[in-house]
Amino acid sequence: MYVPSLYHVEYNEDGTVKRYTPKDGAPATVKKRVVLDMDSAYYPDSFPVPMIEVVHSRIAEEVLRGCIRGCRFCQAGFLYRPFREKSIDTIDVQCRALCASTGYDEISLSSLSTSDYSKLNELIDRLHQWTEKDKVSLSLPSLRVDGFSPELMERINSVRKSGLTFAPEAGSQRMRNVINKNVTEEELLHTVNVAFTEGWTRIKLYFMIGLPTETMEDVLAILDRGKKVVYTFSENKEKPRGKAVEVALSAAAFVPKPFTPFQWFGQDTMEALREKQRELTGHVRSRRVSVSYHGAKTSFLEAVFARGDRRLCAVMEKAMELGLHFDGWDDQFDFDKWMQAFDACGLDPAFYATRPRGKDEIFPWDHLDYGVTKDFLWKEWERAHQGFTTPNCREKCANCGASCYKGGLCVEKRPDMV
Ligand code: SF4
Ligand code: SF4
Repeated sequence: MYVPSLYHVEYNEDGTVKRYTPKDGAPATVKKRVVLDMDSAYYPDSFPVPMIEVVHSRIAEEVLRGCIRGCRFCQAGFLYRPFREKSIDTIDVQCRALCASTGYDEISLSSLSTSDYSKLNELIDRLHQWTEKDKVSLSLPSLRVDGFSPELMERINSVRKSGLTFAPEAGSQRMRNVINKNVTEEELLHTVNVAFTEGWTRIKLYFMIGLPTETMEDVLAILDRGKKVVYTFSENKEKPRGKAVEVALSAAAFVPKPFTPFQWFGQDTMEALREKQRELTGHVRSRRVSVSYHGAKTSFLEAVFARGDRRLCAVMEKAMELGLHFDGWDDQFDFDKWMQAFDACGLDPAFYATRPRGKDEIFPWDHLDYGVTKDFLWKEWERAHQGFTTPNCREKCANCGASCYKGGLCVEKRPDMV
């Protein structure tokens, strides 16, 4: 448990952190705890079922924790290491109990990356032994582009044919190497082709703009991916008859996060982001392709708070005094009032959002230990600039530090590291 008041902070003249000093016998770093054995960990066998329509109106069965990938922008991917799975037996028992107690007819097999479950086809076959009979459908909320096989499609085909969503995250291969999203264009096009053959016609693709080292060419490559998906549909002889393809491209502004290799990156300025957004929307030439994006102002504020420190508490309090409530809703959002709050507290938001950090800067979160070392993250930051990818944990351990938890793939594959 982390108690902020047990850590005294001193700042340098330039506003960066000078040191954190633990008080009253608190440890120098606070180390997270992890559940190593997912089979014996508590999981609820019932929960209240609302009488009104809600989002996520279904059973969520967590099948694994952590992620074997190391996408360099992804905080969850690093925070929740090491990778741990539940056994098929455990998932089966828990799903049966939850269906019986809640009456839901849909189970979402949930995790950071469910297609990385090592025995996914076997798991779905096991669940089908009773879910088909009981008319319970299965859904996989987080599919990777390269984890989408015809066999898997067949197994989840009983599920409704609403849109399919994938996250290639970046348009060009160069950019995908920088962020370590190890999917290729061939894999993406193969996947959508399989989806079209199986009857899907609506595809949503998530991308980010404002990534480290990005050029306008990389940004416009997002549109090329959209066009190629449309072309793939037109060339597919087994696509659904009489239906048109719809490709929705979503381009979120990248927000650098702590505990990731991109924690040193200065976010694109709002003007740079707006220019990229203008270019992107200005070049859409097909009625089959649409582009959406988030406002640059909200992304800027997100970046401030994502890598903020305790001085920002005063800003939040001031913002509240100025009447900012529920401003996750666009109609309640008032950027000028936020700037007023920063001014009143004598803080410059750009210091937190758009300032690139140096290698040796002490971060406000350095005394929190999630296993993955800062040295490893820095090496990944350098590899990103060199355009080198890092293999996933199943292919090769990259020695990130999470093996200190003596669990997950790290230890199964590398007993010498325990
Ligand atoms: S696949 Fe990548 S983006 Fe998805 S959870 Fe894993 S590390 Fe994060
Ligand atoms: S120690 Fe190796 S196998 Fe374990 S999470 Fe880190 S990189 Fe992956």
